[in-house]
Amino acid sequence: MAMNQATNQATNQETNQPITSWVNRSPGDLRVELAEVAATAVEPVVKRAVQAAPDWAKQPLADRVACLRKAQSALVNAQDSLAYGIALETGKPLREAKGEVGAVIAKIDLTIADAERYLPPRAVTDGPHPAQVRRRSKGPAAIVGPFNFPLHLPHGAAVAHLLAGNPVVFKPSPLAANVAAQYSQLIQASLPEGVFGLVQGGAPEGEALCLHPKIRAVSFTGSVPVGRSLAQALAADFSKDLALELGGKNALIVCADADLSAAAKAAAEGACLTAGQRCNATSRVLVQRQVAEPFLELFLAALAHYQPGDPLNIETTLGPLINQTAVERFQRLLAQTGGQWLLPGAVEPEVNGKPGYYVRPGVMLWQERAVGLASALHCQEAFAPLVEVFIVEDLEDALAVHNSTPFGLTTSIFTRSQAQFEALADCLQVGNVYANLATTFSPSTLPFGGLGESGNGKPGGREFIRFVTDEQAVQIAASSFSSP
Ligand code: NAD
Repeated sequence: MAMNQATNQATNQETNQPITSWVNRSPGDLRVELAEVAATAVEPVVKRAVQAAPDWAKQPLADRVACLRKAQSALVNAQDSLAYGIALETGKPLREAKGEVGAVIAKIDLTIADAERYLPPRAVTDGPHPAQVRRRSKGPAAIVGPFNFPLHLPHGAAVAHLLAGNPVVFKPSPLAANVAAQYSQLIQASLPEGVFGLVQGGAPEGEALCLHPKIRAVSFTGSVPVGRSLAQALAADFSKDLALELGGKNALIVCADADLSAAAKAAAEGACLTAGQRCNATSRVLVQRQVAEPFLELFLAALAHYQPGDPLNIETTLGPLINQTAVERFQRLLAQTGGQWLLPGAVEPEVNGKPGYYVRPGVMLWQERAVGLASALHCQEAFAPLVEVFIVEDLEDALAVHNSTPFGLTTSIFTRSQAQFEALADCLQVGNVYANLATTFSPSTLPFGGLGESGNGKPGGREFIRFVTDEQAVQIAASSFSSP
């Protein structure tokens, strides 16, 4: 069995060939190796899901709810160990990892409420005949997850599919394979055989799973190139549902009347949570000229709170990046010229004696608008604690800069004026818009989806259950049946 000891990826980077097993190292301490993970053959797992599908779909919702409640208890009992597993394997600071596991547990309650609201048949009484819209289970669903929220995001999709009667096959990020396996065991133990399957691996396994003809729905959370390739590959199969949750280039807009201190703290938090490796991370600040100087002073001061540290320490505010590839992308973006680095950013190969993928935040001020708009820093998702700053003259100008990226995930507007907020919010090409909150403040009580390259209009998060069933319109002519 090939072993990938040098990097924590499931693809051999030299040959681009899939590998059959790999060993992840903790990004916060590269001396720590996790258990070896073997790639899974996709076919047998899908076959078990196909076999389980009819019975699972026939179960009354109350029975499926009972299974999910059992899973929830198991997750509650394991919450500390799951949070530790996320921090160890992905480098997400323990405080944030605990938040992620808390969200996983809470998600079950929210999705049960959504299921009870959306899954029952809806009577239609204003048509020519008595009618109903029924929601039917689709069949096995593939859920492909990213490394940065290795449990919360796939779990959100999984709970919706499971409650809707669709068996799930979960393909986690290979970079979070161990904690994903621990989570999957807990879920599997609460469900009938075959209803929740786990496929370990990288791109080859993900692709084989998503393209499998028996898979009826794909929920993918990850990068734009992979999302696009899946959309192209699945385009011919009309009835195979595809939900894409992709990247972001999220802006925090600071209006002249804003609470500058609050805006600065939110921008720093949005840039540094999960070391900037969040789809909703703040990677752009658009600040009105009148307040640019005092805001930037406060912003740099707020960033000083985020010092690289051991992700297993509950006090740590800035964990490491996920792997060497991410560090190299960070370095390439730091080499960007044409503007002024207000904070230069840096790679720290070792923190407190622990070798890891540690970095310090960078902030680039673009004085020349055109140079900034053409830069790699502006055109790519950084997925690191890197922020570009544009100075804007007025709201119209802010809107033009805001809508200059193909992404549209989250935007925060800092202003004291509701009229100003509404005027901007209405024109922004974005799926989630917040007033006076960090771009990363995306609670599970709301839907979460992006416009443009950030997604395909099937919002995850709250109410995702609306997208995981087939609708069947049923009408019955009066006096149709002679017996019940
Ligand atoms: P990634 O696209 O590299 O990988 C995501 C998953 O896809 C992994 O499990 C990977 O193994 C799998 N995969 C890779 N190639 C595949 C293929 N051809 N077919 C099927 N599956 C394949 O993303 P990542 O680096 O793990 O995560 C970071 C990205 O995810 C960022 O772009 C981030 O913005 C995005 N993200 C989006 C959201 C959202 O809700 N919009 C949330 C979290 C992360």
